[in-house]
Amino acid sequence: MSKALPKRSEDYSLWYNELVKRAGLAENSGVRGCMVIKPYGFAIWEKMQRILDDMFKKTGHSNAYFPLFIPKSMFEAEEKNAEGFAKECAVVTHYRLQTDPDNAGKLRVDPEARLEEELVVRPTSEAIIWSTYKNWIQSYRDLPLLINQWANVVRWEMRTRLFLRTAEFLWQEGHTAHATAEEAVAETVQMLHVYADFAENFLALPVVKGVKTPNERFAGALDTYCIEGLMQDGKALQAGTSHFLGQNFAQAFDVKFTTKEGKQEHVWGTSWGVSTRLMGALVMAHSDDEGLVLPPKLAPIQVVFVPIFRKDEELAQISETVGKLKQKLEAKGISVKYDDRDTERPGFKFAEWELKGVPVRVAIGPRDLENGTAEVARRDTKEKQSMQLEGLENTLENLLNEIQENIFNRALQFREENTTKVDTYEEFKRVLDEKPGFVLAHWDGTPETEERIKEETKATIRCIALDTPEENGVDMVTGKPSSRRVYFARAY
Ligand code: AMP
Repeated sequence: MSKALPKRSEDYSLWYNELVKRAGLAENSGVRGCMVIKPYGFAIWEKMQRILDDMFKKTGHSNAYFPLFIPKSMFEAEEKNAEGFAKECAVVTHYRLQTDPDNAGKLRVDPEARLEEELVVRPTSEAIIWSTYKNWIQSYRDLPLLINQWANVVRWEMRTRLFLRTAEFLWQEGHTAHATAEEAVAETVQMLHVYADFAENFLALPVVKGVKTPNERFAGALDTYCIEGLMQDGKALQAGTSHFLGQNFAQAFDVKFTTKEGKQEHVWGTSWGVSTRLMGALVMAHSDDEGLVLPPKLAPIQVVFVPIFRKDEELAQISETVGKLKQKLEAKGISVKYDDRDTERPGFKFAEWELKGVPVRVAIGPRDLENGTAEVARRDTKEKQSMQLEGLENTLENLLNEIQENIFNRALQFREENTTKVDTYEEFKRVLDEKPGFVLAHWDGTPETEERIKEETKATIRCIALDTPEENGVDMVTGKPSSRRVYFARAY
């Protein structure tokens, strides 16, 4: 086995990066800010996609696909959106290379092949999609239009980190159009709940559901809803967003419909997205010094069997027992790996599967076979227990559910222990340094105060939670009145 991982408690950032690479999730590439997602990482992403995609379909959405390139004039039609993303746009200016006459063996852009109109590589697809919706929507009968796209997007990020923030990332983006503001808001909130459901029941990550302040709003939206999770170093992570776009894009792209009463009106829009950042959340929320801790529902391999043997006859006997068990488990939809490599010792295999976060490991040796038992180790608590082979498929099925629940509860307890209410600015700063996490404090509602706090402490308002009760208080910085607390944190 290669050397141990850096310790999470000593250098969280290094621990994260090394873990992502060594567990085989992703690695840096030869392209600045862009990563290679490796097979094991992609297997987890595929599971996420499948689950989310089912959720989108169940809520009435269909998938479609739109172009990667957006002509600049189309991109700038919705001014706020264009302005907000301008600094992060990659732009295609030429369509051909040629051999460089001054530099043998090298290529250069063909100066003759300049595009008449430059193309923006999509940082988000509202522009291209709304320009298409203009042709798809004429009457109230065409509404609601509920579309999702799975795609890659490019945002020229200056400071990148595997999965959490990359220049190119994979995501899904939902884009819907509605006849009324109420319907569009209901859709925005519905998708927020879909994301929260996914985060909590699959990622095992408790999230705060809330609304962003105007400062943090998506460019071109009237309201941005978000889910925010807490990572094990006490930093927050925005794990998903859902935007109420009002009629902004409909106006910019002239998307109108005839109402039942025969009037012409602009349609109302939403957009919502989650990205490969969720992979980062998964790692940062649960993993430890031995490696990944995967919630069973997202683990590509849920149970690994490791035979303990000296002689070939022993392996043959163990293989027969494991073969039958594997079938029974697979019949229950549980994914199983039988690691019968004879090139590695059991200790090496144990460490490798721990690093990869397989929720349950079952070791079986000749003695176990005689006794009709197996040694079952769970990844989340590292507990080992001897269990009966008889009915093991049922025991393991229950154990996987228990592990899923335990990982969530642990993360919930962590969040509760690291959410602090404060009333003074001094206390606020002390908590951020000494006990980082979510800090609940009163805010006067102005962008100026928000900005000042961000500059002085690096903490931002993560959201105004949907379920925070009204509570009269005063802003901890300005002393102005406030009617509820908001969630602050330093964030990724
Ligand atoms: P937005 O379109 O800005 O609302 O972002 C949609 C989703 O993509 C959010 O959940 C973000 O957390 C995520 N996201 C934004 N930028 C990046 C990035 N550079 N890398 C990975 N995920 C991102």
